[in-house]
Amino acid sequence: MAIRLNIAALGGAGMTSARTRSRLVERLKTQGICHAGVLAAMAEVPRHGFIDEALAHKAYDDVSLPIGFGQTISQPYIVARMTELAMGATQHEKVLEIGTGCGYQTTVLALLFKTVYSVERIGGLYKATRERLNVLGVHNARLRHADGSKGLAEAAPYDVIIITAAAPILPEDMLPQLKEGGRLIFPVGDAEQELHQIERTSEGFIETRLEKVNFVPLLPGVA
Ligand code: SAH
Repeated sequence: MAIRLNIAALGGAGMTSARTRSRLVERLKTQGICHAGVLAAMAEVPRHGFIDEALAHKAYDDVSLPIGFGQTISQPYIVARMTELAMGATQHEKVLEIGTGCGYQTTVLALLFKTVYSVERIGGLYKATRERLNVLGVHNARLRHADGSKGLAEAAPYDVIIITAAAPILPEDMLPQLKEGGRLIFPVGDAEQELHQIERTSEGFIETRLEKVNFVPLLPGVA
């Protein structure tokens, strides 16, 4: 693992929830997740520390949950699935996430990649998540309060770009920000959405259509 999380900083629940997380990992295996590093990261990250205390009892259920500002934390399966696709890139130096939200996916990625860049358009979420990741010791995540719909050119190119909000069309501006051997993983659609992956090879871009998904929309501008 690239970093060590300070789970104790969340209080006693962090330690007692380790067993609940190992049940989550068993369920992820039955759902088809098999990358050992991804399963280890899912076992490590205390999902209850990313949501409101009132919802903590649902933290390890395979559901998305509200995180305020009309946004959601993704369901564990989809976080694991997108991370497993990300690990299929040839290198794991730099990953860009569009849609930081509460920082759960950011933290899973931070355990597996050298540096994570993550962009969030809602200022309140950006601030709360920056604080949370500091407390947890996620020191290899670089958060930005910005509109990420065109990626983040300043730190490009990336081994992986993950978009955790859905756009009706392919975000073409991000393709030049991918390294060769890199992958762009993103939901596309509005009411009906599908997960897609674009690989950048020496011969060009290869797009693969994956399963049906359900994300909040990718919106323009900052809030
Ligand atoms: N990655 C999160 C999912 C958060 S939901 C997790 O681990 O659960 C998606 C997030 O994308 C929301 O917080 C939303 O505000 C943000 N978002 C939507 N459009 C965006 C844009 N253009 N740029 C950056 N963030 C955006």
